Order: sequence, then structure tokens, then C-alpha cells
Amino acid sequence: MIEAEGLTKFYGPRGAIKNVSFEIEKGEVVGFLGPNGAGKSTTIRILTCYMPPSSGTARVEGLDIYEDSLKIRQKVGYLPESVPLYKDLSVNRFLRFAAGAKGVEAKKINSEIGRVMSACGLEKTANRTIANLSKGFRQRVGLAQALVNNPSVLILDEPTIGLDPSQIIEIRHIIQELREDRTILLSSHILPEVAQLCSRVLIINKGEIIATGTPSKLTSQLQKSTTIVVELSGPSAEFAREVETMPGIRTVSPVSLSGTSKFEIETDPSVDMRSQIAALAVAKGCGLLELRATQLSLEDIFMQLVTEEPPLEGAQS
Ligand code: ADP
Repeated sequence: MIEAEGLTKFYGPRGAIKNVSFEIEKGEVVGFLGPNGAGKSTTIRILTCYMPPSSGTARVEGLDIYEDSLKIRQKVGYLPESVPLYKDLSVNRFLRFAAGAKGVEAKKINSEIGRVMSACGLEKTANRTIANLSKGFRQRVGLAQALVNNPSVLILDEPTIGLDPSQIIEIRHIIQELREDRTILLSSHILPEVAQLCSRVLIINKGEIIATGTPSKLTSQLQKSTTIVVELSGPSAEFAREVETMPGIRTVSPVSLSGTSKFEIETDPSVDMRSQIAALAVAKGCGLLELRATQLSLEDIFMQLVTEEPPLEGAQS
């Protein structure tokens, strides 16, 4: 379980995160989503005790980041954005080193290394020097070191950044396998990655958490409007005029088409206007060819959230 309470961090005079609070329950897989520079790595470095916050506090598995920093570092599996690998070591030697640093008992080291190598598909590269591995395999080594000591909490910072598409699929597959019985916080600026791997999403922008929920809850909560597309083969002027006056309709925009009439009708997302619009088109003899509601995807909503202009100073909200 991870709890962050009012985390704020300044780098010199520059604020990186501001009053970041959230809770992640045991066994949850949560995506930490935000554009580059939003504050994901800063939050993660604080949670993994690599850096203290300027103010606020956090607990990981009940351990306090100020008082139990060493225990947290031993207990949490952390994959930093750029993995500090000792490139002159072989995979095996490096993982041995990681096991020692995490306090794995000497008699258990062999079996522990075997376990993490198998989880990350590294058996065949055990004796290869890390410097000679592809970026995808280095990332596997990074994941393997995070898994040493079988941590119940895994924190992964942009685990697929810089990988090619096939390596991305492989790493996502490994993460999918790791989800069982673990609390995972995974940061990413790629929404489909988070939607694919996580049961809940925390969205951070400009250092502040701006939304949280399951992907489907976020989509329905943040959907600001629904667009209904209607295509008619007959006369449509009267239909368009009447639709505009219906309660719940915001705008009716004709889409130019030759031969038929097509409209994009923006409605309040809390009411489903499809049957009323269909009934009107039939009553007016408009020759209804098509009627469908298009909803924004989570990606559209994410883009809307993170690109929204801040309100002008002094503006009423
Ligand atoms: P993200 O991980 O979402 O890309 P970061 O947490 O790395 O975001 O960065 C948040 C903000 O803090 C950015 O404006 C970044 O430039 C700044 N920042 C990050 N690390 C440092 C640092 N060591 N010194 C100064 N500014 C930093």
C-alpha cells in the first residue's frame, strides 16, 4: 500500500510537484500518467526514498519515508527511468550485487537470481556483459533487479521509454505477468500503455494531480459532451431547426456531403438524446440513413486535460 500526503518538491526556487496526495490499495495496479515534465519521476523518487520532499509525507507498506528510508529501499522494487546498471558486469554478477544490496540471505541468493531471471526471460543472457546487451534486454535486467527479494510493492518509472515497438510489447508482457499479488505504481506518458496494464489511473499535470479513477470512470466523468452524428437522405432544414430547440442539445453543425445531409449534434453527456432525435427525423420524413453517438476516448480526454489553458487571472470559475 502507498500513501502520499501533500507532497511538494522544489528544485531550488522551481516547484516540481505541489500538494500531491493519493492512496494506492494493496494489490492495485495504478498508472501514473502525465506529459513529460509533469512531476512523475519527482513523486516516484520521493516514494522510493531517493530524495526527500520539501514538505508533505508518504508511507509505503506502512513505513515512513523519513524514518524508514533504508527499509523502504530494501523492500520496494524500483525501476528508475534510467537504470543505473554496472555495464561491465555480467547479468548474473549484477543481479548478485543487487541481491546483496537488498539483504537477501547468502544461501537464498542463487534461487532468488534464478527466479528473477526466469520472470524476465534472462536465462540465456546470464553470463553476458550488460554493456553488450540490447536496450530491451538491459531494461529486462533493470526489471529483474527490481524484482529481487520478491517485493510486494513495485514502482516502475517509464518502463518502456526508449524501446522499440517489439521490445515495448515484451516488457509490457513481463509487467502483465508481475501484476499478481503486487501493488504496482507505473508511470508513463503513453496512455494506451496505462490503459492496458492498470486498473486505475492517476493523472498528473504541471505538478498537480488533476484526475483519478478507472479508465472507464474517467471517461464518463470527464466527458464534457457527446456528439451524435445523423445522416439524412431527405429534406433536413426543418429537422435541423427543431433539433436545435430541444433541451439538452448544445450545437447542431452541418457536415458538408454531396447528395445527403449530415449533422454533428453536440449534446449534454448526462442525457441520451438518440431516440428523440431519431423520432424527430422519422416524423419529419427526413429519410434517416445513420444515427450514432461518438464518445471521446480516454486519450482525447487526457489530451484535453493536459492541454487546457489555465483560467485567466481574476476569471470566475
Ligand atoms: P516527469 O517525470 O513527469 O517527466 P519530472 O518529475 O522529471 O517530470 O520533472 C518535473 C519538473 O521538475 C520538470 O519541470 C523538470 O524540469 C524539473 N526537474 C526535475 N528534476 C530536476 C532537477 N534535478 N533539478 C531541477 N529541476 C528538475
